[in-house]
Amino acid sequence: MCQRCFSVSSAAEEEDHDKSKVGFIGLGNMGRRMAANLMHAGFPVVIHDQSPKAMHDLKESGAESAASPAELASMEGVRVLVTMLPTPESVRDVYLGTDGVLQAARENGGIHPSLLIDASTVDPQTSMEVARQMRSADLHRKATPFEGCPSSAPSMIDAPVSGGVTGAAAATLTFMVGGEPEAFKAAQPFLKAMGKHALYCGRSGMGQTAKVCNNLALGIQMASIAEALTLGRDLGLDPGTLTAIFNASSARCWSSEVYNPAPGVTKGAPASRDYQGGFATKHMIKDLKLAATAAEDLDRLLPMGAAALDLYEQVAEVDDALDFTAIYKHIYSHSGRPLPRK
Ligand code: NAD
Repeated sequence: MCQRCFSVSSAAEEEDHDKSKVGFIGLGNMGRRMAANLMHAGFPVVIHDQSPKAMHDLKESGAESAASPAELASMEGVRVLVTMLPTPESVRDVYLGTDGVLQAARENGGIHPSLLIDASTVDPQTSMEVARQMRSADLHRKATPFEGCPSSAPSMIDAPVSGGVTGAAAATLTFMVGGEPEAFKAAQPFLKAMGKHALYCGRSGMGQTAKVCNNLALGIQMASIAEALTLGRDLGLDPGTLTAIFNASSARCWSSEVYNPAPGVTKGAPASRDYQGGFATKHMIKDLKLAATAAEDLDRLLPMGAAALDLYEQVAEVDDALDFTAIYKHIYSHSGRPLPRK
């Protein structure tokens, strides 16, 4: 199977999928934009979030809503379920908890979605365990398997994303996918409506492994760009000028070019709206801790990751909901000195 598989879906398959109703759970900074793009692509969408406020705008745009994950999974016609949740605990809660997807199957003799796409960033073990429990044949007695998927078993993929809220809004996300190759193929029309690239990483959990490594690099890179821009600023170089130099030079990266941490340098980036929205510092801390745990399991160190984690933990002491680029403001406005610990 090719690595970038968007192109392998036949027109006939996409036509069939166009009629599929998609359930979407978790409508935060990312999820609400991704669900909106599914709707723009013509998929009828049913939404659920534990916060009624998070559902407001999509309901206004015509999305149906469900009161719980169990109710959503029991709705006839919902063939696909996408989840975009903040933590491993919330993923377990939605799939395995009271009023969760598994519970719906127990009560109703099966659920309707036959393809489950978890786009949340969690540890690979959680993805593997939830996928294992969702593989139960009983669970999907009511579901119609997608063409090419194993007939008896439901299919779940882990499909964490990269690209941030700008990528979520523009439908240019990159999906890193773990699970059965058939399920990856069946998911393509839905991933395509929300993203630009989908890369198959291997068995269940391997999408998460890729994402953890990606965000380890991102967390370190963002800290390095903030550190270098503020050193330049304090030496008399405007951050916008220095960014233009980075972007034409060897320091160029996503953190300098697309998601710059200096206010006003990248239009639309959270730094230009006082670090509101975007990728919460608490989520970056979660991801760096996932990397740290994975490294510990291999009995190896992540010296750069550990330093970055310490800096983001200091930002979180100010406000853990701020975008992680607030490292620029809350660490480097203090000349790179650590904030006083509370
Ligand atoms: P968020 O905190 O903005 O939104 C999470 C949403 O999930 C909230 O609306 C919350 O009410 C809902 N939720 C939480 N627990 C729930 C439950 N049990 N049942 C129903 N709804 C529940 O998070 P986000 O920024 O949208 O990120 C979501 C996931 O995507 C995270 O795992 C994050 O690490 C990952 N991610 C985020 C970004 C980004 O730039 N924000 C980028 C890549 C990946």
